[in-house]
Amino acid sequence: MKKILPPPFRIKMVEPIRMTSPEERKSALEEAGYNPFLLSSEDVYIDLLTDSGTGAMSDRQWAGLMMGDESYAGSRNFQNLERKAREIFDYQYVIPAHQGRGAEQVLFPCLIERVKGDKPVFFSNYHFDTTAAHVELNGAKAINTLTPMALDTASWYDWKGDFDLTALEQGIKENGAENVAAIIVTVTCNSAGGQPISMANIKAASEIARANNIPVVIDSARYCENAWFIKQREEGYQDKSIPEIIAEMYSYGDMLTMSAKKDPMVNIGGLLCIRDDEELFRSCQIRCVPMEGFVTYGGLAGRDMEALAIGLDEAMDENMLAYRIGQVEYLGERLREGGVPIQYPTGGHAVFVDAGKMLPHIPGDQFPAHALANELYLESGVRGVEIGSLLLGRDPETGKQKHSPMEFLRLTIPRRVYTNDHMDFVADALVSVYQRRESIKGLTFDYEPPVLRHFTARLKPVE
Ligand SMILES: *Cc1c(COP(=O)(O)O)cnc(C)c1O
Repeated sequence: MKKILPPPFRIKMVEPIRMTSPEERKSALEEAGYNPFLLSSEDVYIDLLTDSGTGAMSDRQWAGLMMGDESYAGSRNFQNLERKAREIFDYQYVIPAHQGRGAEQVLFPCLIERVKGDKPVFFSNYHFDTTAAHVELNGAKAINTLTPMALDTASWYDWKGDFDLTALEQGIKENGAENVAAIIVTVTCNSAGGQPISMANIKAASEIARANNIPVVIDSARYCENAWFIKQREEGYQDKSIPEIIAEMYSYGDMLTMSAKKDPMVNIGGLLCIRDDEELFRSCQIRCVPMEGFVTYGGLAGRDMEALAIGLDEAMDENMLAYRIGQVEYLGERLREGGVPIQYPTGGHAVFVDAGKMLPHIPGDQFPAHALANELYLESGVRGVEIGSLLLGRDPETGKQKHSPMEFLRLTIPRRVYTNDHMDFVADALVSVYQRRESIKGLTFDYEPPVLRHFTARLKPVE
């Protein structure tokens, strides 16, 4: 069995959670239209829906909340945040946002405006769902060029978040470099399983971008976890510190968008930083005011910015990263011992269960991973989330269900919130669902929303 790493914290405050009965869960799920997103959190025992905004803030971050300067403009907390972000990323211009998608909605139209061609596209190792949504809402196309190694879930590969560089180059050629609004480097690659991208691959993608005069955006939700993997796995980085590795990663980018609800462990917050392009910064500022708020608060309270400035520091703590990523690995190993197929090795923030492999009798358009999420909830009150066909949605041009190369159930681990006892409980529950996998049925729509449908869809089991 996997060795448990020592937690670099102790617990000072607790929040009671309640176990429900199987009957309660059955009626709660029916009421939620067989969509765990629509469950009341009170009906959930262990919530592995997301690691976004669900982390436990430290005593320092809570103390920071008391230091809020709620001035409308030029708050001291903004200045602390700006100073910290400049120090870590070495990007000159810093705009706060209410969360990651806030930064995306400010930046993307400004990038599209600059495209010389008339068919704007974005390339990424893999666009996160809201990222793809903001690209498409602004009339551009989102193209993923992820390494095919990510699709082979059973085999170890160090860098399942890498770009397929040949596909990237070819895609740029086919679409014309003059149409490419940006190359988005997603660290870690959430949709492939929280999988890391190597420094060599970031550098190579950036060189391709620079050769074609295309800006590089680093989508930075889990940049510290990515840096930790580079330190463990990539030659030449063992003796470097996490801040040094992060500095090199960002030297290959031109700007970043960040959901600060992930690695920096705040409940709400985001960032947009730009290296040195003053003109782009000015146009982002102009969009920020009506969309997010004045440029020194971007939708955040002063106290939120203070907690974020502190979180940016804590997120780089190596002991914390080792413990956290170790906990994810621990859950993954427990599941593998029980026969459950997962994306292997585990990534930074979640275990991705390969529901396509586990439930081969359920076709993609009947959402095998979503069906598995429901079964896990019924079994144990544990809430996971589908990352597959339901999330991917339909092709906006043809209206057909897009083919998802992967059908995952994501068990996302909030930071500093659950113990390994909780992980054992989750593993036992899912292994028992695995043992009755053949009886699990697919799902069909009762109500299908036109965009981002996984959030509000209502479903029912296929007869
Ligand atoms: C969460 C996330 C986003 C969006 O951020 P929000 O804070 O949820 O708006 C963008 N990209 C990636 C990779 C993410 O994980």
